[in-house]
Amino acid sequence: VAELVGQGPDRGDVDGSRCVHRLILWDIDGTLVSCGASGREALEAGALAVLRRVAPSIWGPKSRVPDVVMSGKTDPQIVGEILTLAGMEDSTLEKMMPLALEEAERSLASKLDRIKVEGHVHRGVAELLERMARTSGVRQTLLTGNLEANAYTKVAAFGLEGFFDMAVGAYGTDNRDRDLLVPICLGKVRALRGESYRADEVWVIGDTPRDLSCARAGGARCLIVGTGKEGFDAVRDLEADVVIEDLTDVERVSRVLLGG
Ligand SMILES: [Mg+2]
Repeated sequence: VAELVGQGPDRGDVDGSRCVHRLILWDIDGTLVSCGASGREALEAGALAVLRRVAPSIWGPKSRVPDVVMSGKTDPQIVGEILTLAGMEDSTLEKMMPLALEEAERSLASKLDRIKVEGHVHRGVAELLERMARTSGVRQTLLTGNLEANAYTKVAAFGLEGFFDMAVGAYGTDNRDRDLLVPICLGKVRALRGESYRADEVWVIGDTPRDLSCARAGGARCLIVGTGKEGFDAVRDLEADVVIEDLTDVERVSRVLLGG
């Protein structure tokens, strides 16, 4: 049984009416925006930087690091997989990880102008963010495998940063296991905003099976969109609460998110 609920300022029961009380946790890549190749390249640059430091005779400035599937994974998870495939031992990997992630952040920040040109905001996203921002009792933040700095870089590239209470978001920086990110976020909301949410008041919005998995692990509801890299066909059969092609039907999606 889900726990009950805090006293958010908008919970208001002055006239006895039922107010909306929702926490919306947005994935970034493939859900809010797509950033072109910059995200992948930044993580590869982070991995290559530490490989070059550890084995400069093997790894040059133009070396290609092993290719890994990135969708839905956390940044530290991705960098760890690259380094393992490149032959790095676990003990070295753990020691070098902070350096790799720092370099990945530096690299992505340096690509900001390219992200603006090569990337885009997905259809319906801006309208839906606006609508939720105007709805009393709704808090929106990010739940993403991105490092916190990279999450900010990506949403700020498209001027979306103002929609999110970034401080209570959950990021790859918090844990490399995405399935742990919903409770981490709920903990931050409670600590920093004094708000609690029942499981059925929390929505994860994402584009991959990993988003659904983390929603289920955290007891949250889940809306999956088909705007990710693999397209709608890759997610249409997922057993999320809702699976839709994109967010263009703002009316319908609002009803889903705010409904009982
Ligand atoms: Mg995604």
